[in-house]
Amino acid sequence: MVRDAVLDLVTGSTCVGCGRPGRMLCPPCRGLLPARARISWPQPTPPGLVTPWAVADYDGAVREMVVGHKDRGQFGFRRVLGDLLVESVLCAVPNHEQPLVLVPVPSRPGSARRRGYDPMGALVRVAVSRLRRHGLTASAAPMLVSSRAVVDQAGLSAQQRSANLAGSMACPSARLARLAGRHTRAHVVICDDVLTTGATAAEAQRALAAVGLSPVGIAVIAATRRRFPAQSTRSLLS
Ligand SMILES: [Zn+2]
Repeated sequence: MVRDAVLDLVTGSTCVGCGRPGRMLCPPCRGLLPARARISWPQPTPPGLVTPWAVADYDGAVREMVVGHKDRGQFGFRRVLGDLLVESVLCAVPNHEQPLVLVPVPSRPGSARRRGYDPMGALVRVAVSRLRRHGLTASAAPMLVSSRAVVDQAGLSAQQRSANLAGSMACPSARLARLAGRHTRAHVVICDDVLTTGATAAEAQRALAAVGLSPVGIAVIAATRRRFPAQSTRSLLS
């Protein structure tokens, strides 16, 4: 308690889960994080999309950590987010014997440079080191780049997102692609932090297919829940 209080004075941190002063994520809230990934198809699903796996809903503490890590420079969340990503990766592959190649979805042009930090690349590196510690053969392959500017996705419909992103990613080096695929039995997994409409993952899948790589799945930390207009039945009873 004393240590947490001191940290709070130094850092001004509060837990993203419960608001308790001290650590950015307190141990009890850490313990409440979901530990198993599940299949999270977006609705509607982009045609041909490989199976997407997510550990959490994009909500609450997980959302705070993703945004904090990506947009507020809270790099302390890197390890816990990387651990969550590992759970999705392990589910996205059909077995754990074959080598794993993790391909992060690229940042939009300018955004990573502006921050001087590639959030998704960093999370994939954490995940790779965790997987290796568990005895798996894993490597990070940041071989996709954003080949043209896209507009901010916020507020766009699924169709608009898909049109906005079509053709926006590329693997600029055939050598890189060959390198990633040098284990012909390697399982390629697309990695992103959040799955919304699936348009970003679908574009990454297309860009990989264009250089002859067939991802086996998509691994994300969190997926947005579809929200339907509230249909209250209570009004019928009152
Ligand atoms: Zn907490």
